[in-house]
Amino acid sequence: MENMYCLRCNRPIESGQKSVAVYLFAQTVGIKPRQKSAAQRICFCPQCSVSLAMGPPPEGALNLAAWDMIRDLVASDPALNQAAWENLGAVLGTLPPTGTAGPRLSATSGGYFEF
Ligand SMILES: [Zn+2]
Repeated sequence: MENMYCLRCNRPIESGQKSVAVYLFAQTVGIKPRQKSAAQRICFCPQCSVSLAMGPPPEGALNLAAWDMIRDLVASDPALNQAAWENLGAVLGTLPPTGTAGPRLSATSGGYFEF
């Protein structure tokens, strides 16, 4: 198995780890001989999947199609939300509780939380 990384946050995703995989391939229609591209697998970690689904629609028709599919998964069963929640809890568990002198999440996690 090749090493996969979350497309959005670059977190490594080991095989069997909870994640969302988007499979993408192209094939010719009405043209002989029919050609089919290799399939690409794009992965999102649970947090990014839920975050994307809760966020505004992205730009671009392909992005929008993927967003719709991820929203469908997130909306249809709480298991993915639960996985995201567990991962987030594991990260927060390594930080001091809110209200202590320790660093706050917003200061240390960097990147994609913007207020
Ligand atoms: Zn991610």
